[in-house]
Amino acid sequence: MKVYKFGGASVKDANGVRNLKDIVALSNDDLMVVVSAMGKTTNALERLVSALAKGDEQMAEQEWLGVLDQHVYTMRDLGLQPNVDVRLPMMPTYNQNWSYDKNYDQIVSLGEIISTQIIAVFLLKNGIPTEWWNIPKLLLTDSTYREAQVDLEHSSKVIQAGWNRTNRPKVVVAQGFIGGDSEGNRTTLGREGSDYTAALLGNFLNADSVTIWKDVPGILNADPRLVADAVKIDQLTYHDAVELAYSGAQVIHPKTIRPLENKKIPLFVKPFGNPTADGSIITATAEPIRVPVYIWRMNQVLITLRAKDFSFVLEESLSHIFQIIHANRLKVSLIQSSAVTISVCVDNSRFVAQAIEQLQEAYRVTWNENLSLLTVRGTTPTILKHEQEGRDILLSQITRRTAKLVIKD
Ligand code: ASP
Ligand code: MG
Repeated sequence: MKVYKFGGASVKDANGVRNLKDIVALSNDDLMVVVSAMGKTTNALERLVSALAKGDEQMAEQEWLGVLDQHVYTMRDLGLQPNVDVRLPMMPTYNQNWSYDKNYDQIVSLGEIISTQIIAVFLLKNGIPTEWWNIPKLLLTDSTYREAQVDLEHSSKVIQAGWNRTNRPKVVVAQGFIGGDSEGNRTTLGREGSDYTAALLGNFLNADSVTIWKDVPGILNADPRLVADAVKIDQLTYHDAVELAYSGAQVIHPKTIRPLENKKIPLFVKPFGNPTADGSIITATAEPIRVPVYIWRMNQVLITLRAKDFSFVLEESLSHIFQIIHANRLKVSLIQSSAVTISVCVDNSRFVAQAIEQLQEAYRVTWNENLSLLTVRGTTPTILKHEQEGRDILLSQITRRTAKLVIKD
């Protein structure tokens, strides 16, 4: 069997869904099809939750109508009847007794619930034997809302049992990005998490391969929106892929690789507009990458800590510093230390301010926001010089093959 994953951009409208159907129809294998919410639905639902939390009913209703409209329009275009073929949910409400994050997960997960229902029905109507799976009942997670951790042992048993049923049709359509906790609430695995779901399902079902269908020819050595002559990397090792994802390459979610590497399952990244193209393949035994790779990680905050009395910050304080970072769920992109300072570059998030406050109790803290981290893998002195020129660089970390520059825009 194979796992196919389609992201939001690839199912953003009826043409995308028809294209998905064509790609699925081309395959002779049994397929687990993992799908994200259509287009920018997740962003709209995020705005809806925030409007509901603020009590802004009018704004909330407007966002909800926008979401409904887009799905109704897509369904009609696909020849499906809204509320007959797929029943669209009522406008969600906000439960004041729950945390924001718990409300968020109940509401934002609707994007995937709706998209997968539309797609499953469409496949069925087009003669492809298909079953819709309600992943929140199968993929068990803890209750860390918005960043739920999957119970691998339990989930793998349930999912294998579902897959191995004798009457299972050839194709199963399942939601990426979401799961469910033991109390029956929906959870989410972190933004852009459907790649990770695809990898987990591939691992549980011992897939021959996992394919992520995307709006790019494969994994490129630079963002084609920033660099005109970006080239495709044909082969990568799992290790390369982890480094790229961690450095900020948007092409795969960082958590995707491990479940695949553990079972040596190859990962393909292919263009959904050209299903027979080779794309990129990630395996254990790929050739070394022969071009420099440029990865931008945006919206960074560089936090520098000094001991209040100018003593060494290192040994004793490290675990305390990282405890604070971990407790606030900060995502660290770079660490650098000197005798009396330690600098940590993190993704900006709603928890950064709080973490800085906690750090200030023990350290002198300075920080800069709105920075970018440029990682160049396979760099040379010439490339490095070129990338440094004319830029305001707050910090650089340079090893023989990799340069990391924290840049002020
Ligand atoms: N729909 C979710 C998001 O936009 C998950 C995903 O696309 O992977 O973050
Ligand atoms: Mg997405």
